[in-house]
Amino acid sequence: MDKYLTELAKSILFTAARPEIVMECGKGMYLWDSSGKKYLDFIGGWAVTCLGHCPEAISKALKNQSDLLINASPAFFNKPMLEFAQLLTNISCFDRVFFASSGAEANEGAIKLARKYGAKYLNGAFEIITTVNGFHGRTLATMSATGKKHWDVLFEPKVSGFKHVPINDIDAVYQSVDSNTCAIMLEPIQGEGGVYSLNEEYVKDLRKLCDNKGILLIFDEIQTGIGRTGKMFAYEHYKIEPDIMTLAKGIGGGFPLSAMLTKEKLNIFDAGDQGGTYCGQPLAMAVGLAVVNEVINKKLPQNALVQGQYIIDSLNGIKEKCSLKNIRGLGLLIAFDLPYENGSKIVSECLKEGLIINSPKPSTIRLMPPLIVTKNEIDIMIDILCKVIPKQFH
Ligand SMILES: *Cc1c(COP(=O)(O)O)cnc(C)c1O
Repeated sequence: MDKYLTELAKSILFTAARPEIVMECGKGMYLWDSSGKKYLDFIGGWAVTCLGHCPEAISKALKNQSDLLINASPAFFNKPMLEFAQLLTNISCFDRVFFASSGAEANEGAIKLARKYGAKYLNGAFEIITTVNGFHGRTLATMSATGKKHWDVLFEPKVSGFKHVPINDIDAVYQSVDSNTCAIMLEPIQGEGGVYSLNEEYVKDLRKLCDNKGILLIFDEIQTGIGRTGKMFAYEHYKIEPDIMTLAKGIGGGFPLSAMLTKEKLNIFDAGDQGGTYCGQPLAMAVGLAVVNEVINKKLPQNALVQGQYIIDSLNGIKEKCSLKNIRGLGLLIAFDLPYENGSKIVSECLKEGLIINSPKPSTIRLMPPLIVTKNEIDIMIDILCKVIPKQFH
């Protein structure tokens, strides 16, 4: 980062510790910074750039749509909005779509819809059961839904009405459900929490419990949706259908876009209950439509499954040399634990070597590359890990 850019950075409100580099351009699996240094990207814009950086499908959609219509206001339908909603209902078990711009906003929509359902059909039940170590976003309500220990005392008072249970413990859910409960909301694989999957029996039991009690099952697929886990949506692995699903990250391929999908029986909002200036905005709709069509046409969920297995096998191959533990994940959402709590040091050393990875916890490394990743790039990534990790043993 040169003097000029360092000076400019003083105008940014601090919210994150960022390295002293400025990203300038990207193509496919690679990013380049302002000094021309090249990086292999294994975080994919935070599980977002599913088609890689600057794919033609997105630039074409943006160009065409921006020549046609950028914003007609949320008071009107627009054509890409209708086409995109129909595509999403065609490829999923859902009947209705609400569009927004960020994951947290989609989850706010899901929370409000569950409370509306509780008010209408469950004698005013409003409580939502979520999970310990889960993640649902950074607005006030989604922070309350999130089960991050370190957030418990932040920005008090919290939005009330959330109870947290550990995952894969159905008894804990039974003990928490009461007449105030309107929904259970969770990620099929906890992403920010460090890649922990729900097991199949637990999900089937959750579905049964929700059916028996008449409450809603909400899947936050913001990280797992759109092919990331090897199926278009992670709920398909469990052979159940949630009542509500939220999507973001991959759905826009890097463009700010999110969606909440639900069944016909939950088409219960009254006019004005939910919305936003950019909900269903034509540019975002055209991009989302192009991205999801590309994911389908290029069979990227299948590629995620194949390459994900290759990453797991490759990590197992360097497991001894690098003292890796608990190699886990599904498709291209993968994590492993380190022998020491030095994840951020490993991330910064890899960055020097031209590899971008993520450490969601001090002893954990997470990989979430674009869905277009190939074996060649995986081999390069593994070589860099092999070079960096053993050097940090002490
Ligand atoms: C990233 C994420 C969110 C929040 O999405 P934003 O777009 O950052 O608001 C919510 N839930 C899950 C599972 C996520 O991974």
